[in-house]
Amino acid sequence: MLSPAEALKLILERVSPLPAGPQPLQDLLGRAVAEDLHATGMVPPFTNSAMDGYAVRSGDLAEATPEHPVRLRVMGDLAAGSVPLGAVGVGEALRIMTGAPLPEGADTVVPVEDTTRGDDWVELRKPLRAGIHIRLAGEDLQEGQLLVKAGQGLRPGDLGVLAAAGHAVVNVHPRLRVAVLTTGDELVDVSERPGPGRIRDANIHAVCAQVTACGATPVPYPRVPDDRDTLLKVLRTALEADVVLTTGGISVGDYDFMKGLLEELGAERIFWKVAQKPGGPLGFWMLGGKPIFGIPGNPVAAMLMVEEYVRPALRKLMGFAKLHRPLAEARMEGGWSGRADDLRTTFLRVVARREAGQLHARLTGPQGSAILSSMLIANALAVIPAGVDLVEAGGMVSLHLTEEAEDH
Ligand code: AMP
Ligand code: MG
Repeated sequence: MLSPAEALKLILERVSPLPAGPQPLQDLLGRAVAEDLHATGMVPPFTNSAMDGYAVRSGDLAEATPEHPVRLRVMGDLAAGSVPLGAVGVGEALRIMTGAPLPEGADTVVPVEDTTRGDDWVELRKPLRAGIHIRLAGEDLQEGQLLVKAGQGLRPGDLGVLAAAGHAVVNVHPRLRVAVLTTGDELVDVSERPGPGRIRDANIHAVCAQVTACGATPVPYPRVPDDRDTLLKVLRTALEADVVLTTGGISVGDYDFMKGLLEELGAERIFWKVAQKPGGPLGFWMLGGKPIFGIPGNPVAAMLMVEEYVRPALRKLMGFAKLHRPLAEARMEGGWSGRADDLRTTFLRVVARREAGQLHARLTGPQGSAILSSMLIANALAVIPAGVDLVEAGGMVSLHLTEEAEDH
């Protein structure tokens, strides 16, 4: 059976970024840029005032004191968005607003709070060095400066910087459309009251949310009963999406049709099982260049498979340079023990917290693959390598930090 690392390698070998194209800057939050982007000019483009006040020549204020203020002649007003008509001469001042271009001659701005105003004059009570309350052209960004690197996901701040720097259109990779299918005769909608033997469909919500959190667009399909013909029909339409994710029906039960059907459709099976717990059955197929993931129905296993295998694949398809979660080493409080003969990698849901510079992890509770509540407070997965059956209390474990905030 494949190890998790081998399975992930087989997946990532088969997917590559969807072709990028130019897109207007709006609505690019979370999309990966396809090329390095540089400032097209200086930001700010001109030297301007950082305060509402008076643009003056610092030399005129050298002798100013509260007892003997310096009186300057006010030549006019300059609002943000206007341009100065003339220079500020000796003995002169120009009323200036934040963001207005600094007029020639002036080399400093006195905040309005530090002044007394008459009809056409202003009095200043203390000296001010040149260059105070002034924003220099290019002090934020120089022309040609690297702003965003190829493969980086755009965050709100990046969009602001790109706008300030003149990138109206940006080359980005498309947002993936991911068809999500849940299967099982036992499933009912969350809004329904489950009858005898029925349960609510948790996966459609959890998995679609995971897809959204990856930056892709989930396309939820109506629940599919364990019926061959219906499943075949739905699979055919789902293949209109860029990627297909199915949950359930992937194991060896009598109603587990997924494998057979996909192969009937001509999909190439890359692998079907991974040596890991929870989970195990995870099918990966390619059909006409499209990746198809068959994920187990157990909600915890399903979420784990999406986290460990689907997420990196979706990120690669969307052109992100960074595919994986941050890794960390943590001290395992309480320890853990498994079966000595187990040759599978175990993923434990844990709560990680930092204390005095050291990460500590504790189990979220019972770890069965149907214990969905174990996902509630988890912010990391502890990865216990195959063959390890004991982690002493206080022993070190490797973590995948799954909390979005940890993942820049
Ligand atoms: P399966 O992989 O279809 O054999 O399902 C394994 C277990 O997961 C069974 O107990 C199912 O009832 C349960 N299960 C399957 N799909 C879902 C779902 N969408 N939501 C919640 N539980 C599910
Ligand atoms: Mg089933």
